[in-house]
Amino acid sequence: MIENVGFNILKQAVIYLPDDVKQALKKAHETETSETGKTQLKAILDNIELAEKFRAPVCQDTGTIIFYVKAGAEAKDLARIEAALITAVKKATKEVPLRPNAVDPFTQKNSGDNTGRNIPHLNWEIVPGNDIELTVMTKGGGSENVCLGGMIVPGEGVNGLKKFVIDAVIKAGAQPCPPNILGVAVGGGADISMKLAKKALLRPLTEHNSNPELAKLENDILEAANMTGIGPMGLGGRTTVLGVHLDYAFRHPASFPAAVAFNCWAARRSTAKIHPDGSVDYMTHTLEW
Ligand code: SF4
Repeated sequence: MIENVGFNILKQAVIYLPDDVKQALKKAHETETSETGKTQLKAILDNIELAEKFRAPVCQDTGTIIFYVKAGAEAKDLARIEAALITAVKKATKEVPLRPNAVDPFTQKNSGDNTGRNIPHLNWEIVPGNDIELTVMTKGGGSENVCLGGMIVPGEGVNGLKKFVIDAVIKAGAQPCPPNILGVAVGGGADISMKLAKKALLRPLTEHNSNPELAKLENDILEAANMTGIGPMGLGGRTTVLGVHLDYAFRHPASFPAAVAFNCWAARRSTAKIHPDGSVDYMTHTLEW
């Protein structure tokens, strides 16, 4: 069961971008004022359409495969989830097929099946109940290469955070295959802020931050990022970032950790919920292939 659902959401994610991402790209294409930027967005939209038509991955870069597991405390078979998801990844690599992207950092050997030590990576959350919710994100390498963690001077506060993010966007330029989605997080510690920033990428672009002040900050960062002129694929234009998603943890008085996680236009994610009776809700995609 877990293996099948893991396979299905992975296959869905790599072929069909979520509706919110497609809608944001379509809107960007309508409003982009740079001719080159418009052409790039049209190429991206054509690419998305062709991937769906031919049921082929939307990008050749499989990315790194990450799962987020919300496990009901009363759910059965939790101990089997990791092995089942590894099997699902191996099967998807063969059958979709997916480019093998998991390389041993010391020997440089590619495992050939997108698995290896700590990959696919599983993030666990224990929640009340007996359902198991699985989300997969296939995180592109180009956008991963510019993710940034750092420490802001605590006294600089929100202004320091804005500068940190916009500097990261300018430095990243074309590398993360813009237009991008930015996950931004502060607080906790260096590891916690980066983990929260990456997880924030799962929030749909249509969902605003539930805290109005943070929603405004997200919008301020979005507008500033889109004034850089980097544009689609870094070739100029007003569409550099499609959305900014903020999260935070409380911080140590002397530390202000900050992180920005970039996602590329191929912002692939898919979620399904498995109920105790074996029924499955595919929450972001329909199962129609
Ligand atoms: S960063 Fe994203 S769009 Fe660019 S090559 Fe990798 S997966 Fe594809």
